[in-house]
Amino acid sequence: MSFAEFKEYHDTHILTTYGRYPVCFVKGSGAMLWDSDGREYIDFSAGIGVNSVGYAHPKWVEAVTAQAGILAHVSNLYYTEPGAKLAEKLCKLSGMSGVFFANSGAESNEGLIKLARKYSRDKYGEGRSTILTLTGSFHGRTVTTLAATGQEVFHKNFDPFTPGFRHVAPGDIDALNAAGGDVCGLLMEPIQGEGGVLPLDKEYVLKAAQICAERDWLLLCDEVQTGVGRTGTWFGFQGLDIKPDAVSFAKGIAGGLPFGGFMAGDKLKDVLGPGDHATTFGGTPLCAAAALATLEILEPVLPQVAEKGDYIRNKIEAMNLKIVAGTRGRGLMIGVKIAEANPKEVNLKLLEAGLVALTAGSDAVRLLPPLTITAEEIDKGLSIFEKTLKEF
Ligand SMILES: *Cc1c(COP(=O)(O)O)cnc(C)c1O
Repeated sequence: MSFAEFKEYHDTHILTTYGRYPVCFVKGSGAMLWDSDGREYIDFSAGIGVNSVGYAHPKWVEAVTAQAGILAHVSNLYYTEPGAKLAEKLCKLSGMSGVFFANSGAESNEGLIKLARKYSRDKYGEGRSTILTLTGSFHGRTVTTLAATGQEVFHKNFDPFTPGFRHVAPGDIDALNAAGGDVCGLLMEPIQGEGGVLPLDKEYVLKAAQICAERDWLLLCDEVQTGVGRTGTWFGFQGLDIKPDAVSFAKGIAGGLPFGGFMAGDKLKDVLGPGDHATTFGGTPLCAAAALATLEILEPVLPQVAEKGDYIRNKIEAMNLKIVAGTRGRGLMIGVKIAEANPKEVNLKLLEAGLVALTAGSDAVRLLPPLTITAEEIDKGLSIFEKTLKEF
């Protein structure tokens, strides 16, 4: 079957909700991918920050297949071991006190929202349920996390939304000070990912954290993209010297299986009791085993993440490309600002040349390589990047 024939077959029964690039991937290894025509690619995208340990990592494959052969799933009505081990590990790495497991980023953020509202309800009663989020943010595609998302483009056609969210501009301390007595929390991404790889200003974050502490607003970090080593620390907040009350994670946690959750600090550990929150697949042994293997693989890699990121950014800056107007981000979460060209067009050209990348916001090509990417793979990818962008 040619690609064109396959595309027609595919689109006959799969809803066309995605604007897909014209490639069908069939195989991966490390930071390499192969398509149905046997063409080879370097991967600077890792899904969208999901394949943190690359493709088919032997330790990951072994852990997942072993667990699949033992016990893939039982209900949360019963106890299982892999999730308990994983939660202990995550608390140790983050300094948090307790974990709830979920399946996706949006679902993990829904949990954070429920946690914040319940805390406030228990302590202050009704009328204090609003969560502030930032303009340019992205928190998911459910009706509630869309309401939290501070980008109009995602809102079109899907109202009415869940009430109880207000957007404030990142950096605007006055807006935080002026927010009323209906607020119970502030939700932010340490680096806005989908919004354009825009790091929050550290001074702003520190001031915001102080305001949260003074007013007993919960400081909530959406670490779905920045978490699990992506920025060179286990979690993005650790690079900002703040201690959030709760943190969500997903994307990279299980190296490719659908998994996520949120972690609560001491203050919130007992806010949700039996019956308050649940999800059928949450913390299933198969995904927990995948996540444990992922963390084990990443442990020795984490110290190199900042180095690899700086290397890529320095190389790109040194290329002196006419259409590149600078780089931004932290660790292996990199935004390349594209001037006078459409980042989507640039990204398509990269793909055609054998480099898988992403876009973010309206002006950036986004690079989220597997954290395990090798020096050789990085150089191969950068050489395709330079050759392709020179032509614009
Ligand atoms: C991707 C993303 C989400 C949504 O995650 P899904 O798994 O697609 O629901 C939420 N927040 C941030 C910061 C993200 O990057």
